[in-house]
Amino acid sequence: METQSKIALITGASSGIGAGTAKVLAANGFKVGIAARRIDKLNELKNEITLSGGEALPIQMDVTDPDSVKRGVEKLVAAYGSIDVLVNNAGLMPLSDIESLKVDEWNQMIDVNIKGVLNSTAAVLPYLKEQNSGHIINMSSIAGRKVFKGLSIYCATKFAIAAFSDGLRMELAPKFKIRVTNIQPGAVATELYDHISDPKYRDDMEQLAKQMTFLTGEDIGNSILYAVSQPAHVNVSEVFVLPTEQG
Ligand code: NDP
Repeated sequence: METQSKIALITGASSGIGAGTAKVLAANGFKVGIAARRIDKLNELKNEITLSGGEALPIQMDVTDPDSVKRGVEKLVAAYGSIDVLVNNAGLMPLSDIESLKVDEWNQMIDVNIKGVLNSTAAVLPYLKEQNSGHIINMSSIAGRKVFKGLSIYCATKFAIAAFSDGLRMELAPKFKIRVTNIQPGAVATELYDHISDPKYRDDMEQLAKQMTFLTGEDIGNSILYAVSQPAHVNVSEVFVLPTEQG
């Protein structure tokens, strides 16, 4: 498999899909910047990757803070010399009915799921433009393709990511040879559901997990590896990947 780009920054790498993606990319020759707020988890992941023969750089980063993101990107470039792939993965999904008016949770989702992606993209884009190549992977969701009750605000953030991915690709791919891939996973077994404060929706997710074998973070990492491993003239613009039993 051809892998053209070798330095990747993965946000939300302290657990779930981000950690799984870091392991997959590192096992396939990427140097990975692993970014999130929980530095202890990032250090554990770095040790695991190092023991497997890979290379990883823990970067403490809050994607809602543009300065924190910029510093993190500079740290990666200082350590590895450049950046080729950005995986915009950090995200939250505290589900609830709109009428519960959990406005703080709505704002958190907008801050991390949308503004976090914009902050990271803005910090990385100058490097990709300069080298006239690169790949931005955005983590949308099945919830960025259709709306589910209780997921309204989450769906709105993931639809926004789908729209932003299309716009990014249209503007950047022809001009700067920067590829853009929108990933749309179904259910993945991660910590995402632990942050649901509404007991009804938490229970719904626990029931769903009993009905099917969820995907793993590594399954999504493999989809990302597929996209970044294509020859330069191939842009895998969308990947919709589901547990087989999710239908
Ligand atoms: P996890 O909860 O396991 O991972 C979320 C990651 O986001 C953590 O590493 C967390 O790290 C990070 N994060 C949260 N807030 C911030 C912040 N302010 N700054 C930096 N990092 C932050 O969930 P998943 O792995 O499931 O989620 C990853 C992405 O995948 C999300 O965008 C999610 O919407 C999407 N997705 C998940 C699906 C699923 O079924 N699990 C399905 C479809 C899409 P820390 O707390 O250390 O900062």
